[in-house]
Amino acid sequence: MAQDKRIAIYPGTFDPLTNGHVNIIRRALRLFDKVIVAVAADTGKTPLFSLNERVDMAEKVFARESDIVVEPFQGLLVDYVASRNAQTVLRGLRAVSDFEYEFQISLMNRKLRPDIETLFLIADYRWLYISSTIVKTVASLGGDVRGLVPDHVFACLRARFGFDPVGVDEPIAPLPSPALPGQPDASAPNGREQPC
Ligand code: ADP
Repeated sequence: MAQDKRIAIYPGTFDPLTNGHVNIIRRALRLFDKVIVAVAADTGKTPLFSLNERVDMAEKVFARESDIVVEPFQGLLVDYVASRNAQTVLRGLRAVSDFEYEFQISLMNRKLRPDIETLFLIADYRWLYISSTIVKTVASLGGDVRGLVPDHVFACLRARFGFDPVGVDEPIAPLPSPALPGQPDASAPNGREQPC
């Protein structure tokens, strides 16, 4: 069956989606008609957000963009790509440190399915230092990650780490005292209704 060259599959953990990811997705839409954000169930890491939460957050961010679709996927990426009748895996590169891993994975994927190509977009300089990991670390300590993640993701991070919600332009009050190990308790976030 002819493959649809206009679909790019952007796989990742997206735990959570950052503005670096959003930038790659939007730029890819200059080259493709549709980007499928494929949220991995099998991550090899213990994610902060469940698969459903990661999909749900990304869906909310792209709710008004019909050319961006968010889906969970499980198992071999190349099988999933083929199942979507697509030909291109999209990945982002931030630094040399990303390169070795990406290089290995893309060659393995080519060995598994030579008809599927991996396309790398270089991260925009504004998001070069952003990773989901560093965003989570800062957010877990009450730091302000607004502008680094979509507003909805910011609200989800605040809630997950048990911090009060803050408005987009509201200043974030410093923590009254240094958080003790184990606090704030992410499992009991203030008894407020959770946005995510
Ligand atoms: P994975 O766990 O598969 O690496 P991630 O969710 O961390 O998934 O990242 C998905 C893709 O987005 C990867 O190609 C990664 O290099 C890329 N990426 C992550 N952060 C950024 C960023 N700040 N700018 C551009 N690309 C990024």
